[in-house]
Amino acid sequence: MDEHERCHRILARVFAFHDEALDEAEADEIRQHLLGCEPCLGKFEVERAMRVLIRRSFGESAPSRLRERIREKLSLDSFNDQALA
Ligand SMILES: [Zn+2]
Repeated sequence: MDEHERCHRILARVFAFHDEALDEAEADEIRQHLLGCEPCLGKFEVERAMRVLIRRSFGESAPSRLRERIREKLSLDSFNDQALA
């Protein structure tokens, strides 16, 4: 698996990680990856900040469609940047 593919998989699971939908082994793998991969760690921080913001703006009932759209935008931007680097 190349590094790009690995990061893509990790990022997809970072969102589940926040939702606490992962088992311990998966959570560990993601933690390990985040420690060694700055772009993914950055995305993780952005995702966390975004959740705080959304919660402040909408309360616990943040529209899930809005969250989906922000997620899509984040991953698209991320991989466009990597493709250009
Ligand atoms: Zn990564």
